[in-house]
Amino acid sequence: MKRPKIEFVTTEEAETADVMVCLPWTIPPILPDNQRAKCGVCGNIVQHRPNVPKRPMRVCVDCAPSVIRPQ
Ligand SMILES: [Zn+2]
Repeated sequence: MKRPKIEFVTTEEAETADVMVCLPWTIPPILPDNQRAKCGVCGNIVQHRPNVPKRPMRVCVDCAPSVIRPQ
């Protein structure tokens, strides 16, 4: 199996990403200041750090395989 290429980018470059994979919302959140968002595919509530890129669609780990395609 060919491993996908992992590319490291700046915060500004990350704003151009299509999706951001997030963990499901938990009570309490994994870190106390994590923020809530909605998965853009299934609508489940997810969590992310406050400083993540604002533009990319939030996607839960369960939906990620359906929107991330190998290049
Ligand atoms: Zn989802």
